[in-house]
Amino acid sequence: MRCALTGFFSIVSCLVGSGLLGCGPSSGSAPAAAPSGPGPAAAASEAAGPPAVEATLESVGLDASAMDRSVDPCTDFYQFSCGQWLERTEIPSDEAAWTRSFNEIRKRNELELKSILEAAAQGAPGTDTAKLGTFYAACMDEAAVEAAGKAPIAPLLAQAAKVKDRQGLAALVIELHRQQIAPFFEIAPVQDPKDATRWIADLDQGGLGLPDRDYYLRDDERSTKLRATYLEHVERMLVLAGTPAARAKAGAREVLALETELAKVSKTRVERREPKNMFNRFERAQLAAAAPGFDWDAYFQKLGLAEVTALNLSAPKFFSGLSSVLGSAKPEALHAYLDWQIVRGMARHLSKPFVDESFRMEQALTGQAEIRPRWRRCLATTDNALGDLLGQAYVQSHFAGESKAAAENMVHAISAAFQRELGSLTWMDPSTRERAGQKLAAMGYLIGYPEQWKPYGFDVDRKSYAQNVLRARVFDLQRELAKVGTLVDKREWQISAPTVNAYYSPQRNHMVFPAGILQPPFYDVKSGVAVNLGAIGMVVGHELTHGFDDEGSQYDAQGNLADWWAPEVGKRFKEKTQCVARQYGEYEVQPGLPINGQLTLGENIADLGGVKLAFAAYRALRQAAPERVNAGGFNEDQQFFIAVGQAWCAKGRPEYERMMVQVNPHSVPRFRVRGALAGLPEFASAFSCPADAPMLAKNACSVW
Ligand SMILES: [Zn+2]
Repeated sequence: MRCALTGFFSIVSCLVGSGLLGCGPSSGSAPAAAPSGPGPAAAASEAAGPPAVEATLESVGLDASAMDRSVDPCTDFYQFSCGQWLERTEIPSDEAAWTRSFNEIRKRNELELKSILEAAAQGAPGTDTAKLGTFYAACMDEAAVEAAGKAPIAPLLAQAAKVKDRQGLAALVIELHRQQIAPFFEIAPVQDPKDATRWIADLDQGGLGLPDRDYYLRDDERSTKLRATYLEHVERMLVLAGTPAARAKAGAREVLALETELAKVSKTRVERREPKNMFNRFERAQLAAAAPGFDWDAYFQKLGLAEVTALNLSAPKFFSGLSSVLGSAKPEALHAYLDWQIVRGMARHLSKPFVDESFRMEQALTGQAEIRPRWRRCLATTDNALGDLLGQAYVQSHFAGESKAAAENMVHAISAAFQRELGSLTWMDPSTRERAGQKLAAMGYLIGYPEQWKPYGFDVDRKSYAQNVLRARVFDLQRELAKVGTLVDKREWQISAPTVNAYYSPQRNHMVFPAGILQPPFYDVKSGVAVNLGAIGMVVGHELTHGFDDEGSQYDAQGNLADWWAPEVGKRFKEKTQCVARQYGEYEVQPGLPINGQLTLGENIADLGGVKLAFAAYRALRQAAPERVNAGGFNEDQQFFIAVGQAWCAKGRPEYERMMVQVNPHSVPRFRVRGALAGLPEFASAFSCPADAPMLAKNACSVW
């Protein structure tokens, strides 16, 4: 399962979304400002401290060659931290964006994982290692994949061609959903909002081929052009699936029309950020009335959910709309849509014409110049299908474990910082403060890798890659749906151990930091405390703050959706969060393309809190230190902030940035830095910034 978890309604807040958005170098000729910083090493805040020892930036874990010291940190801190890196870094042709931290680690990880998989392919038959290696080897066997052509989806296309009535349609949708090909809507288990210890079934909106509903509904020139590209893409895919060329053009138009109808009744991404709207309990009998025209009984029975009497509908309006679409669509339109969904759902795992056509659309959306080499795509698919087998092998050979203890220490230091902070917040009242403290005390954390590795009880065949993918998906969905009606196991992980990301789950009230992210430049045992706290400490603070962002704050210590706020405190909190929405809404990623302050609100609150808490924790950890380290002319406070900036040095292609602004709940990296520092007095003081410095926001917001 991917961390972005955007398809299914899954309430997890990741550190980064599906890939990172970058930012171009600041528009060319930077004015030759007279830098007021970095200033003398001993800033006022540390003047009276212990004696200083001199060190290089590299020795504390910072990258001097990334910085642009000709820029005043109080004017543009991002450029100051990353300027030379932005100048010299080219986004690789097979990437849509590139980040100094995430992508550099991923690149390293991928090479390590590749050698693990190549060795696993030689493993003794019948073992888990062999299964892992065989899956990867079958994917790498290009000749076999080319020879298979569209054969792996031929049975599904044949079944689609025979659909004549309601029963036939339901039977096909069931078969496709089992294989995680998702026409019309999606199904997954979610935690019961009122009893987070239990799983219930959730039906969610879906069935679109473009990244968001707005792509269908916007009338601007760019959206219109993108839809024209999409029409051509669907047409070519239909031809590849076997539709006569003469019919494919009309078929593509019918697909777009049908998806547009689904888009109209779909919730927006901002609406989907409101937990109260996402939980709507329905009895099975009510569902038949709310969404008539579909054989729900057959659907639940065939997916092993015959016993389910009540479920969640995250978008009720969508399901009544779906009924109308199903009731009015012409048979040929339905057939075109089903063919399209089948080919779309499997294209990346079929022969070259399918893969190339799939990439053409991706290219239009992201600007990526070239497709990734086959081994990288095979690695990603293997991770998706057998994540815990891969994770297990990775941890054995590449996770020393020392970073686990360090991360644990940081969690404790940052949790303590939040507790102290909570005591001093003037907008809190005693009862809300106490309940926030209880939630903090109950917050769990998982670090490194899961206690128990998941088994994968399906066969993998060296000769049939696409069938392996389908078997993995069938097994995965069965395992997921089998949870319905059972108790939640909070030890379960939702991303694999090598993943370079982290997340917070409000319904489990825990944070998760996989082995993948506990590496330089996020964490290095050799780095200084200030630098480690500025990098991985900021990540820990970010995840912890998610427990108290605009969404997380609606869940209690047990993970239940419950209002634990005194009304007037809740009102003040809401005002504070709206300040953040306004602050970020003023940042323009490209001219005329502002950040969506409501879509990114939770992540921005987490970024604000994350940096603030990590700073407080670093200060506490260094309080009793016998000396202070000056590195390359920067004191420890300054090193902390440079580490924050350098964790986000990033570039993104303009098309990709545009897409991410529409769909990604995270702000683009340069604004993650600017937004989080704009209202932080500790930053202003570290670099002796004057009150009117461009980096500082006049109406700066702070929540936690
Ligand atoms: Zn986050």
